[in-house]
Amino acid sequence: MLSPSDKRMPDPTVARANERLALRFYQLKTGHYLTGQYLQWTTRRPDAKCWWCQYKTQTLENLFKSCPQCKRQQKTLWATVLEDNRKHRAQSAQETAPR
Ligand SMILES: [Zn+2]
Repeated sequence: MLSPSDKRMPDPTVARANERLALRFYQLKTGHYLTGQYLQWTTRRPDAKCWWCQYKTQTLENLFKSCPQCKRQQKTLWATVLEDNRKHRAQSAQETAPR
């Protein structure tokens, strides 16, 4: 659980990232990523339709999991998440193992 002071500290990984990547991270974190759903909400688009596959509502769920036009990126994303989770679990197990 985060303490109040943790919430004000920038994520150290994001702080080291380039500006463009950091912007994308904070858009995702705050729900302001430029999806069809968000752009319709901000009235910058007339509908929330996915401009890649024409699904009725383009959400992060659609882009990250089911949009057929993003299959290659989804495969890379989830393989990276899986690998990072494995590394974190191995690191945590090493740190908590009795010496
Ligand atoms: Zn789509």
